Amino acid sequence: MSASIPLRVAIVGTGPSGFYAAEHLLKVHPGVEIDLIDRLPTPYGLVRGGVAPDHQKIKSVTRVYEKIAAKPAVRFLGNVTFGRDLSREELLRHYHAVIYAVGAPTDRNLGVAGEELAGSHAATDFVGWYNGHPDYRDKVFDLSRPSVAVIGMGNVAVDVVRILARTPEELHGTDIAEYALEALRQSRVRDIYMIGRRGPVQGAFTNPELKELGEMPGADIDVRAADLELDPGSTAALAATDDKTPEKNLATLRHFAAKRAEGKGKTIHLRFLLSPVALQGEGRVERIVLGHNRLVPAASGDLKAESAGVSETLPTGLVFRSVGYHGVALPGVPFDQKRGVIPNTAGRVLSTGGAPLPGEYVVGWIKRGPSGVIGTNKPDALESTNALLSDYNGGALAAPAITDREALPRLLVSRGVRIVTWQDWQRLDALEKARGEALGRPRLKFTRIEEMLGALG
Ligand code: NAP
Repeated sequence: MSASIPLRVAIVGTGPSGFYAAEHLLKVHPGVEIDLIDRLPTPYGLVRGGVAPDHQKIKSVTRVYEKIAAKPAVRFLGNVTFGRDLSREELLRHYHAVIYAVGAPTDRNLGVAGEELAGSHAATDFVGWYNGHPDYRDKVFDLSRPSVAVIGMGNVAVDVVRILARTPEELHGTDIAEYALEALRQSRVRDIYMIGRRGPVQGAFTNPELKELGEMPGADIDVRAADLELDPGSTAALAATDDKTPEKNLATLRHFAAKRAEGKGKTIHLRFLLSPVALQGEGRVERIVLGHNRLVPAASGDLKAESAGVSETLPTGLVFRSVGYHGVALPGVPFDQKRGVIPNTAGRVLSTGGAPLPGEYVVGWIKRGPSGVIGTNKPDALESTNALLSDYNGGALAAPAITDREALPRLLVSRGVRIVTWQDWQRLDALEKARGEALGRPRLKFTRIEEMLGALG
């Protein structure tokens, strides 16, 4: 333990997991000095770039993060890219410990023929696009076709379906990117199919999210009663679990199946036990071939989908695969390609040989994989920061080789990096809100990094 300088920690990534790591460190070790590093000029990770714009209430969690960032011992170093502006080795020279909190930014493939056709997209691209994330703002989605298929039964699929089904008036009241609002205003999408490979009991969505699909002002909900007749395996699974969500979901789906269409204009169709077999079309997606499934016991004890040998074809002009996110390796940091995570034990990063790397920790989706809601990151961060503090208190963390706290910002500036500080972000935040207010909207986001830096002068 170094008595000469306080514990210094860098957190790479400023989504919920990074902020909760900072919060726990400040609480348990009040003398800690923390630098929050983000490659974007804006903080909050998926809260800004992932949470659906029509869920503004969920986004209000940023008030908690604001308080953390405002602490004198915390600095925000935005617009700084790990591995480009700063190497892992350089970073480790300035801190006792580094916490990787970079999330899981990319998508998983379906692995079916035709997936590369125009009109076939990762849901993650669409999510980034409608949220005004600079990496995705130039993506183009052809919303001129009447039918869209969303593959997957998780909450991201639900978000995508909802945004496609919202009326322009509803979207106007959100912080959806201006270009996305305009594109969705022109949308000719009428039928939105959400397709699950397993049955209604195995849906990955949570119940409030599912319920919302039946309460859309501009869209009817269509569920086939026959799809809700359970196989013996699902009935047994329902009876055996303590988790109330599948039971609630089934009740909600039964309620949907009994509803009459009200002619709202658009229809959300929920279809179960179907797997995409191929995407087909001349140069672009025109239809999707869906294989019918039945459920059979898996080695894990769960039920898995197996082909029933029958297929159907659904005409569709746009396909979004929403089958989970996947982590991306950070330059120089160990990575488990298959799972898309940084290998770790209880948050301590492991070398390729399996030994803990002193001073390196991991939190959030890049630690445990892309699962859980925002709050899941609290206990997750607690585990990793407890490991860090235990290592520090036990003398296992070497003091930084460079003790001047200003040395890192100086190095970055010498490399031509325009560091965006917390005060800078607060100016951007105020500008976005003011631009939104002028249009009767909660916020009008800057969606290009140059635009953000330009606004800061
Ligand atoms: P997810 O919850 O893991 O759901 C993935 C879905 O894709 C599952 O239905 C899965 O079916 C299906 N799938 C996987 N591989 C497939 C394949 N090859 N073919 C067809 N279907 C396939 O992932 P997510 O929706 O990306 O969400 C990630 C996390 O963020 C979740 O924990 C979610 O709850 C959270 N989230 C929460 C909110 C919210 O609270 N409002 C909003 C968005 C996201 P199987 O079950 O059969 O594998």
